[in-house]
Amino acid sequence: TKQQVGLLFGGRSGEHEVSISSARAIAQALLSADNASRYTLYPFYISKIGQWHGPEVAQGVLDSGQPLNAEDGDTVNLWSFPPEASQMTVWFPILHGPNGEDGTIQGLLQLMQVPFVGSGVLGSAVGMDKLAMKSAFAQAGLPQVAYREIRRHEIWSNPCVFPKLCDEIDAVLGYPCFVKPANLGSSVGISKVRSRSEFEAALDNAASYDRRVIVEAAVANVREVECAVLGTDNPQVSVVGEIRFEGDFYDYETKYTAGQADLLIPAPLPDKIARQIRELAAEAFTAVDASGLSRVDFFYQEETGEIFLNEINTLPGFTATSMYPQLWQATGIAFPDLVHQLLQFALDHADG
Ligand code: ADP
Ligand code: MG
Ligand code: MG
Repeated sequence: TKQQVGLLFGGRSGEHEVSISSARAIAQALLSADNASRYTLYPFYISKIGQWHGPEVAQGVLDSGQPLNAEDGDTVNLWSFPPEASQMTVWFPILHGPNGEDGTIQGLLQLMQVPFVGSGVLGSAVGMDKLAMKSAFAQAGLPQVAYREIRRHEIWSNPCVFPKLCDEIDAVLGYPCFVKPANLGSSVGISKVRSRSEFEAALDNAASYDRRVIVEAAVANVREVECAVLGTDNPQVSVVGEIRFEGDFYDYETKYTAGQADLLIPAPLPDKIARQIRELAAEAFTAVDASGLSRVDFFYQEETGEIFLNEINTLPGFTATSMYPQLWQATGIAFPDLVHQLLQFALDHADG
Protein backbone atom coordinates (compact mmCIF):
# COMPACT_ATOMS: atom_id res chain seq x y z
CA THR A 1 0.00 0.00 0.00
CA LYS A 2 1.10 3.53 -0.65
CA GLN A 3 2.52 5.70 2.10
CA GLN A 4 0.78 9.04 2.70
CA VAL A 5 3.61 11.56 2.88
CA GLY A 6 3.00 14.83 4.74
CA LEU A 7 5.44 17.34 3.25
CA LEU A 8 5.69 20.10 5.84
CA PHE A 9 7.20 23.41 4.73
CA GLY A 10 7.28 27.20 5.16
CA GLY A 11 7.57 27.99 8.85
CA ARG A 12 8.03 30.89 11.26
CA SER A 13 11.66 31.46 10.23
CA GLY A 14 13.86 33.80 8.20
CA GLU A 15 14.45 30.83 5.90
CA HIS A 16 10.75 30.53 4.95
CA GLU A 17 11.35 31.19 1.24
CA VAL A 18 14.18 28.66 1.05
CA SER A 19 11.85 26.10 2.61
CA ILE A 20 9.28 26.71 -0.13
CA SER A 21 11.97 26.11 -2.78
CA SER A 22 13.13 22.94 -1.02
CA ALA A 23 9.54 21.66 -0.78
CA ARG A 24 8.89 22.33 -4.47
CA ALA A 25 11.89 20.18 -5.40
CA ILE A 26 10.87 17.36 -3.03
CA ALA A 27 7.24 17.47 -4.21
CA GLN A 28 8.43 17.08 -7.77
CA ALA A 29 10.64 14.15 -6.78
CA LEU A 30 7.66 12.45 -5.13
CA LEU A 31 5.78 12.64 -8.43
CA SER A 32 8.56 10.90 -10.38
CA ALA A 33 7.50 7.53 -11.83
CA ASP A 34 9.17 5.32 -9.20
CA ASN A 35 8.09 7.39 -6.24
CA ALA A 36 4.52 7.94 -7.46
CA SER A 37 3.90 4.21 -7.16
CA ARG A 38 5.06 4.24 -3.52
CA TYR A 39 3.91 7.56 -2.11
CA THR A 40 0.96 9.93 -2.18
CA LEU A 41 1.96 13.53 -1.55
CA TYR A 42 0.04 15.74 0.91
CA PRO A 43 1.65 19.17 1.25
CA PHE A 44 1.16 21.18 4.47
CA TYR A 45 2.21 24.80 4.68
CA ILE A 46 3.06 26.74 7.85
CA SER A 47 2.75 30.46 7.20
CA LYS A 48 5.17 33.11 8.46
CA ILE A 49 2.92 33.71 11.46
CA GLY A 50 2.72 30.00 12.26
CA GLN A 51 -0.72 29.14 10.86
CA TRP A 52 -1.02 25.62 9.43
CA HIS A 53 -2.66 25.16 6.04
CA GLY A 54 -3.80 21.88 4.49
CA PRO A 55 -3.08 20.41 1.05
CA GLU A 56 -5.31 22.71 -0.97
CA VAL A 57 -3.68 25.96 0.16
CA ALA A 58 -0.25 24.33 0.43
CA GLN A 59 -0.39 23.09 -3.17
CA GLY A 60 -1.13 26.65 -4.24
CA VAL A 61 1.98 27.88 -2.45
CA LEU A 62 4.05 25.12 -4.10
CA ASP A 63 2.65 26.01 -7.53
CA SER A 64 3.26 29.74 -7.19
CA GLY A 65 6.49 29.47 -5.20
CA GLN A 66 5.27 32.50 -3.24
CA PRO A 67 4.60 32.70 0.51
CA LEU A 68 1.15 33.65 1.79
CA ASN A 69 1.44 37.11 3.18
CA ALA A 70 -1.58 38.91 4.56
CA GLU A 71 -3.55 36.70 6.89
CA ASP A 72 -5.82 39.30 8.40
CA GLY A 73 -8.41 37.77 10.64
CA ASP A 74 -6.58 34.47 10.94
CA THR A 75 -6.10 33.49 14.50
CA VAL A 76 -3.04 31.44 15.22
CA ASN A 77 -4.14 28.18 16.73
CA LEU A 78 -1.45 25.60 16.21
CA TRP A 79 -3.69 22.87 17.52
CA SER A 80 -6.32 23.23 14.85
CA PHE A 81 -4.49 20.99 12.41
CA PRO A 82 -5.83 20.59 8.93
CA PRO A 83 -7.99 17.43 9.07
CA GLU A 84 -5.81 15.61 6.53
CA ALA A 85 -2.88 15.71 8.99
CA SER A 86 -4.24 12.79 10.98
CA GLN A 87 -4.10 10.52 7.92
CA MET A 88 -0.37 10.83 7.26
CA THR A 89 1.71 7.66 7.59
CA VAL A 90 5.07 9.48 7.41
CA TRP A 91 6.14 13.15 7.59
CA PHE A 92 8.86 14.92 5.67
CA PRO A 93 9.51 18.22 7.49
CA ILE A 94 11.63 20.51 5.33
CA LEU A 95 11.61 23.61 7.51
CA HIS A 96 14.90 25.49 7.82
CA GLY A 97 16.04 27.50 10.84
CA PRO A 98 14.22 28.26 14.10
CA ASN A 99 10.76 26.70 14.71
CA GLY A 100 11.43 23.79 12.40
CA GLU A 101 15.05 22.68 12.25
CA ASP A 102 15.54 23.08 16.02
CA GLY A 103 13.54 20.21 17.53
CA THR A 104 10.25 22.04 18.05
CA ILE A 105 8.43 20.49 15.06
CA GLN A 106 10.22 17.21 15.71
CA GLY A 107 8.71 17.13 19.22
CA LEU A 108 5.27 17.71 17.76
CA LEU A 109 5.67 14.93 15.19
CA GLN A 110 6.98 12.58 17.87
CA LEU A 111 3.90 13.29 19.98
CA MET A 112 1.73 12.51 16.95
CA GLN A 113 3.41 9.07 16.88
CA VAL A 114 4.03 9.09 13.16
CA PRO A 115 7.55 8.49 11.74
CA PHE A 116 9.32 11.47 10.20
CA VAL A 117 12.38 12.20 8.09
CA GLY A 118 15.49 13.58 9.78
CA SER A 119 16.82 14.04 13.29
CA GLY A 120 14.73 13.75 16.44
CA VAL A 121 14.33 16.37 19.15
CA LEU A 122 17.82 16.06 20.60
CA GLY A 123 19.83 16.03 17.37
CA SER A 124 17.80 18.89 15.92
CA ALA A 125 18.10 21.05 19.04
CA VAL A 126 21.81 20.45 19.51
CA GLY A 127 22.48 21.03 15.80
CA MET A 128 20.64 24.37 15.79
CA ASP A 129 22.32 25.82 18.87
CA LYS A 130 25.92 26.68 18.02
CA LEU A 131 27.05 26.56 21.66
CA ALA A 132 25.45 23.19 22.42
CA MET A 133 26.83 21.95 19.10
CA LYS A 134 30.37 23.11 19.90
CA SER A 135 30.21 21.40 23.31
CA ALA A 136 29.10 18.14 21.73
CA PHE A 137 31.88 18.38 19.12
CA ALA A 138 34.48 19.19 21.80
CA GLN A 139 33.34 16.23 23.87
CA ALA A 140 33.87 14.01 20.81
CA GLY A 141 37.39 15.44 20.36
CA LEU A 142 36.61 17.07 17.01
CA PRO A 143 38.79 20.00 15.77
CA GLN A 144 37.23 23.46 16.08
CA VAL A 145 38.39 27.09 16.27
CA ALA A 146 38.86 28.72 19.68
CA TYR A 147 35.70 30.43 20.92
CA ARG A 148 34.10 32.06 23.90
CA GLU A 149 30.50 32.33 25.04
CA ILE A 150 29.09 35.68 26.12
CA ARG A 151 25.65 36.24 27.60
CA ARG A 152 23.43 39.13 26.65
CA HIS A 153 23.34 40.41 30.23
CA GLU A 154 27.15 40.69 30.18
CA ILE A 155 26.93 42.76 27.00
CA TRP A 156 23.97 44.94 28.00
CA SER A 157 23.40 45.26 31.69
CA ASN A 158 26.61 46.75 33.00
CA PRO A 159 28.57 49.12 30.73
CA CYS A 160 31.62 48.82 32.98
CA VAL A 161 32.07 45.20 32.00
CA PHE A 162 32.61 45.99 28.37
CA PRO A 163 36.27 47.10 28.27
CA LYS A 164 37.23 44.19 30.48
CA LEU A 165 35.41 41.80 28.19
CA CYS A 166 37.25 43.23 25.19
CA ASP A 167 40.62 42.89 26.92
CA GLU A 168 39.86 39.29 27.67
CA ILE A 169 38.79 38.47 24.15
CA ASP A 170 41.71 40.41 22.64
CA ALA A 171 44.10 38.30 24.65
CA VAL A 172 42.54 34.95 23.80
CA LEU A 173 41.19 35.25 20.27
CA GLY A 174 42.69 38.33 18.60
CA TYR A 175 41.43 39.93 15.37
CA PRO A 176 39.77 39.34 13.09
CA CYS A 177 37.15 37.34 14.93
CA PHE A 178 33.54 36.38 14.25
CA VAL A 179 30.62 37.34 16.47
CA LYS A 180 27.45 35.21 16.12
CA PRO A 181 24.13 34.70 17.83
CA ALA A 182 23.99 31.10 19.12
CA ASN A 183 20.70 30.15 17.57
CA LEU A 184 20.25 31.35 14.01
CA GLY A 185 21.30 30.37 10.50
CA SER A 186 21.76 31.97 7.09
CA SER A 187 24.48 34.22 8.57
CA VAL A 188 21.85 36.45 10.21
CA GLY A 189 23.35 38.53 13.04
CA ILE A 190 26.92 37.47 12.21
CA SER A 191 29.75 40.02 11.93
CA LYS A 192 33.40 39.80 11.09
CA VAL A 193 35.24 42.06 13.52
CA ARG A 194 38.58 43.46 12.39
CA SER A 195 39.46 45.68 15.32
CA ARG A 196 38.39 46.56 18.80
CA SER A 197 36.47 49.58 17.53
CA GLU A 198 34.08 47.29 15.64
CA PHE A 199 33.59 44.94 18.53
CA GLU A 200 30.91 46.70 20.52
CA ALA A 201 28.52 47.12 17.61
CA ALA A 202 28.97 43.48 16.60
CA LEU A 203 28.22 42.20 20.12
CA ASP A 204 25.26 44.49 20.42
CA ASN A 205 23.88 43.29 17.08
CA ALA A 206 24.30 39.59 17.87
CA ALA A 207 22.75 40.09 21.33
CA SER A 208 19.69 41.62 19.68
CA TYR A 209 18.99 38.20 18.10
CA ASP A 210 19.81 35.89 20.96
CA ARG A 211 20.45 35.75 24.69
CA ARG A 212 23.68 33.83 24.02
CA VAL A 213 26.47 35.03 21.76
CA ILE A 214 29.64 33.38 20.45
CA VAL A 215 32.93 35.08 19.69
CA GLU A 216 35.29 32.88 17.72
CA ALA A 217 38.71 33.12 16.11
CA ALA A 218 38.63 33.66 12.33
CA VAL A 219 40.37 31.18 10.06
CA ALA A 220 42.58 33.16 7.64
CA ASN A 221 42.35 32.48 3.87
CA VAL A 222 39.68 29.98 4.62
CA ARG A 223 38.29 27.52 2.10
CA GLU A 224 34.72 26.46 2.91
CA VAL A 225 34.04 22.79 2.26
CA GLU A 226 30.95 20.71 3.00
CA CYS A 227 30.05 17.05 3.19
CA ALA A 228 26.62 15.37 3.09
CA VAL A 229 25.61 12.59 5.48
CA LEU A 230 22.76 10.12 4.89
CA GLY A 231 21.52 7.30 7.10
CA THR A 232 21.08 6.43 10.73
CA ASP A 233 23.40 4.18 12.71
CA ASN A 234 26.03 3.65 10.01
CA PRO A 235 25.59 6.76 7.91
CA GLN A 236 27.03 7.16 4.43
CA VAL A 237 29.10 10.24 3.56
CA SER A 238 29.18 11.95 0.17
CA VAL A 239 32.04 13.40 -1.83
CA VAL A 240 33.22 16.77 -0.50
CA GLY A 241 32.01 20.01 -2.09
CA GLU A 242 33.35 23.55 -1.91
CA ILE A 243 31.71 26.97 -1.99
CA ARG A 244 33.53 29.78 -3.79
CA PHE A 245 32.34 33.38 -3.73
CA GLU A 246 33.56 36.93 -4.00
CA GLY A 247 33.52 38.90 -0.79
CA ASP A 248 34.58 38.83 2.77
CA PHE A 249 32.56 35.95 4.14
CA TYR A 250 29.56 33.84 3.24
CA ASP A 251 26.96 36.32 4.42
CA TYR A 252 23.19 36.44 3.90
CA GLU A 253 23.36 38.35 0.64
CA THR A 254 25.93 35.99 -0.87
CA LYS A 255 23.88 32.97 0.19
CA TYR A 256 20.62 34.11 -1.34
CA THR A 257 21.54 36.20 -4.37
CA ALA A 258 21.60 34.07 -7.50
CA GLY A 259 25.01 33.86 -9.12
CA GLN A 260 26.98 35.07 -6.09
CA ALA A 261 28.40 31.69 -5.15
CA ASP A 262 29.68 28.68 -7.09
CA LEU A 263 29.61 25.09 -5.93
CA LEU A 264 32.64 22.97 -6.82
CA ILE A 265 31.78 19.28 -6.67
CA PRO A 266 33.96 17.48 -5.92
CA ALA A 267 36.15 20.05 -4.19
CA PRO A 268 39.71 20.16 -5.54
CA LEU A 269 41.42 18.74 -2.44
CA PRO A 270 44.23 16.29 -1.77
CA ASP A 271 42.79 12.77 -1.25
CA LYS A 272 44.04 12.68 2.30
CA ILE A 273 42.23 15.91 3.25
CA ALA A 274 39.00 14.81 1.56
CA ARG A 275 39.16 11.50 3.41
CA GLN A 276 39.67 13.26 6.76
CA ILE A 277 36.74 15.57 6.08
CA ARG A 278 34.46 12.64 5.28
CA GLU A 279 35.47 10.86 8.48
CA LEU A 280 34.94 14.00 10.56
CA ALA A 281 31.52 14.54 8.95
CA ALA A 282 30.33 11.10 10.10
CA GLU A 283 31.74 11.73 13.59
CA ALA A 284 30.05 15.13 13.82
CA PHE A 285 26.74 13.53 12.79
CA THR A 286 27.01 10.98 15.57
CA ALA A 287 28.27 13.53 18.13
CA VAL A 288 25.01 15.51 18.04
CA ASP A 289 22.85 12.36 17.59
CA ALA A 290 21.68 13.44 14.13
CA SER A 291 19.62 11.04 12.04
CA GLY A 292 18.52 10.72 8.42
CA LEU A 293 20.35 13.63 6.84
CA SER A 294 22.76 16.46 7.62
CA ARG A 295 25.21 18.71 5.86
CA VAL A 296 28.45 19.16 7.79
CA ASP A 297 30.44 22.34 7.06
CA PHE A 298 34.18 22.79 7.50
CA PHE A 299 36.89 25.43 7.30
CA TYR A 300 40.02 24.27 5.48
CA GLN A 301 43.26 26.20 5.87
CA GLU A 302 45.30 25.23 2.85
CA GLU A 303 48.69 26.63 3.97
CA THR A 304 48.74 24.74 7.27
CA GLY A 305 46.59 21.79 6.18
CA GLU A 306 44.30 22.36 9.18
CA ILE A 307 40.65 21.32 9.08
CA PHE A 308 38.15 22.86 11.49
CA LEU A 309 34.60 21.72 11.93
CA ASN A 310 32.30 24.73 11.56
CA GLU A 311 28.75 23.45 11.95
CA ILE A 312 26.18 20.79 11.22
CA ASN A 313 22.88 21.62 9.54
CA THR A 314 20.30 18.93 10.25
CA LEU A 315 17.78 20.15 7.62
CA PRO A 316 20.03 21.61 4.91
CA GLY A 317 18.75 23.46 1.86
CA PHE A 318 17.10 20.91 -0.43
CA THR A 319 16.37 22.76 -3.66
CA ALA A 320 17.41 21.15 -6.94
CA THR A 321 20.56 23.29 -6.94
CA SER A 322 21.39 23.05 -3.21
CA MET A 323 24.67 21.58 -2.01
CA TYR A 324 23.11 18.63 -0.17
CA PRO A 325 21.30 16.93 -3.09
CA GLN A 326 24.10 17.96 -5.48
CA LEU A 327 26.67 16.17 -3.31
CA TRP A 328 24.57 12.99 -3.43
CA GLN A 329 24.02 13.34 -7.15
CA ALA A 330 27.81 13.41 -7.59
CA THR A 331 28.15 10.42 -5.25
CA GLY A 332 25.66 8.38 -7.28
CA ILE A 333 22.27 8.97 -5.67
CA ALA A 334 19.84 10.90 -7.87
CA PHE A 335 17.38 13.37 -6.29
CA PRO A 336 14.22 11.18 -6.45
CA ASP A 337 16.10 8.21 -4.99
CA LEU A 338 17.51 10.41 -2.23
CA VAL A 339 13.98 11.41 -1.22
CA HIS A 340 12.91 7.75 -1.30
CA GLN A 341 15.86 6.65 0.86
CA LEU A 342 15.13 9.35 3.44
CA LEU A 343 11.49 8.24 3.71
CA GLN A 344 12.58 4.61 4.03
CA PHE A 345 15.00 5.47 6.87
CA ALA A 346 12.14 7.23 8.65
CA LEU A 347 9.80 4.24 8.19
CA ASP A 348 12.46 1.68 9.18
CA HIS A 349 13.31 3.54 12.37
CA ALA A 350 9.79 4.32 13.41
CA ASP A 351 10.47 2.77 16.79
CA GLY A 352 13.45 5.05 17.52
P1 ADP B 1 25.33 30.09 9.75
O1 ADP B 1 24.80 28.98 10.62
O2 ADP B 1 24.48 31.32 9.83
O3 ADP B 1 25.63 29.64 8.35
P2 ADP B 1 28.23 30.10 10.20
O4 ADP B 1 28.83 29.83 11.53
O5 ADP B 1 28.34 29.01 9.20
O6 ADP B 1 26.73 30.56 10.42
O7 ADP B 1 28.92 31.41 9.62
C1 ADP B 1 28.53 31.98 8.38
C2 ADP B 1 29.75 32.29 7.54
O8 ADP B 1 30.64 33.19 8.20
C3 ADP B 1 30.62 31.10 7.21
O9 ADP B 1 30.11 30.36 6.11
C4 ADP B 1 31.96 31.77 6.88
O10 ADP B 1 31.94 32.40 5.60
C5 ADP B 1 32.01 32.89 7.93
N1 ADP B 1 32.67 32.42 9.15
C6 ADP B 1 32.04 32.08 10.30
N2 ADP B 1 32.91 31.73 11.26
C7 ADP B 1 34.14 31.83 10.71
C8 ADP B 1 35.48 31.61 11.19
N3 ADP B 1 35.69 31.22 12.44
N4 ADP B 1 36.51 31.82 10.34
C9 ADP B 1 36.29 32.22 9.06
N5 ADP B 1 35.07 32.44 8.55
C10 ADP B 1 33.99 32.27 9.35
MG1 MG C 1 23.97 27.04 10.08
MG1 MG D 1 26.95 28.12 7.87
